[in-house]
Amino acid sequence: MKNKTLTFLGNDSGFGKKNNSAYIEKEDKLILIDCGFSVFEIIKEKFDFNKYKEIEVIITHLHNDHAGSLSQFILYLWFIYKKSVTIFSKCSRIKDYLEITGTPKDAYILKNASKSIEFIKTEHVKYLDSYGFKLNIENKNIIYTGDTNEINAFLPYIKNANELYIDVSRYGGAHIKIDDILNTLEEIEKNGTNIYLMHIDDKKYIKSVIKNKDWLIDVN
Ligand SMILES: [Zn+2]
Ligand SMILES: [Zn+2]
Repeated sequence: MKNKTLTFLGNDSGFGKKNNSAYIEKEDKLILIDCGFSVFEIIKEKFDFNKYKEIEVIITHLHNDHAGSLSQFILYLWFIYKKSVTIFSKCSRIKDYLEITGTPKDAYILKNASKSIEFIKTEHVKYLDSYGFKLNIENKNIIYTGDTNEINAFLPYIKNANELYIDVSRYGGAHIKIDDILNTLEEIEKNGTNIYLMHIDDKKYIKSVIKNKDWLIDVN
């Protein structure tokens, strides 16, 4: 049984019910990865935010299924729990985004890297700059692609990775087509990296392509 570091709140593609989003709790710190429009309702019920000394949110890009309830979440923590959040993002317009949505400046700190987080620029759509990242946590080296239509940007990092979380789809376009990447993923797995597929648009089809591989993620 593989021991996955991240727990997923959802792994649907953009028009699905539960936006692709994950978290990890480490002692008194909560790290949330992306905060799409369906995420706030889930995390509001799921977590007792009183217990965290630090809350961090990593934002990969500004599509609504990744950042659509970010401002709401920051406001909630600020007004209900009197807590500020550290936002990690390299998105060129994240500052504008937070300002336009009326997010108080005191309620968040914006950073674009840390000792354990390094963003990796990738290609997704021409309208937005998009990033995956490398995360070092619990002695594990994790690569998370975010939404991407290519794997090349990540390959140099994957060599030393314990876990790869990768965006795949049936149809391709703004996302990596599962049929195109299957052989590469098999190679990566052979080299010792556990594979987890995210942002699923057609689970049945992807299951049929990967056959008996345990690459699909359970959502908690
Ligand atoms: Zn998306
Ligand atoms: Zn996207």
